[in-house]
Amino acid sequence: MNFAENLNSIQQRITAACARAGRGLNSVTLLAVSKSHPPESIQTAVACGQIFFGENKVQEAKAKIPLSPSKARWQFIGHLQSNKVRDAVELFEMIQGVDSLAIAQEISKRAEQAGKTMPILVEVNVAGEGSKFGYQPEKLLAELDALSALPRIEIHGLMAIPPYSPVPEKTRPYFQRLRELKVQAEKILGYPLPQLSMGMSGDFEIAIEEGATIVRVGTALFGERISQLRLEQS
Ligand SMILES: *Cc1c(COP(=O)(O)O)cnc(C)c1O
Repeated sequence: MNFAENLNSIQQRITAACARAGRGLNSVTLLAVSKSHPPESIQTAVACGQIFFGENKVQEAKAKIPLSPSKARWQFIGHLQSNKVRDAVELFEMIQGVDSLAIAQEISKRAEQAGKTMPILVEVNVAGEGSKFGYQPEKLLAELDALSALPRIEIHGLMAIPPYSPVPEKTRPYFQRLRELKVQAEKILGYPLPQLSMGMSGDFEIAIEEGATIVRVGTALFGERISQLRLEQS
């Protein structure tokens, strides 16, 4: 598994998807999802020019970030527990995956204590799956004003993790749904939401065609993830 080759190929595919969609290349940020991979992998990635990294476990990030090059910039992706918010506010420059008013309040509170304002993306459960985190769309629209009123968070956009399908094209309607929701949310808020975080290794090109500004790619860059068990033992 050669990171440089993988990165090059992903960048070419991003460029091609942007061209198909008539979008500028710098309208899409590649977030390298490094969960389960060690600091040496981050070093390699940074040496290849990759800057943005995504992690979904605060404990793991807390151990890894200090051992990684300082050029690397970190975003939290996924569900955040309230007892991890304080660390998350310190470690990450954006929290993607805010899925309740309660967690947003906690982020605002901890950001205030840290003397910061925290950019967030709100996670939407676009397929209404019972097993998944994320706001139901109606609930999000109802709570947007309350989220927006919190003093130390800034809503930068929406993110979603649609149901996995081996046929990437089947995910397109969920990406469209998230894009439409962003338009509705902007109307309610009265200000633009610049970010749509959607698309992973299997479907990021379709997500870009549907308006993604952040694609979160793990496996296609780093290879298969090291098992959680091995990581915890090491
Ligand atoms: C793991 C993860 C990804 C990356 O998934 P790949 O299929 O390996 O690209 C993206 N987003 C979130 C929220 C994740 O947890």
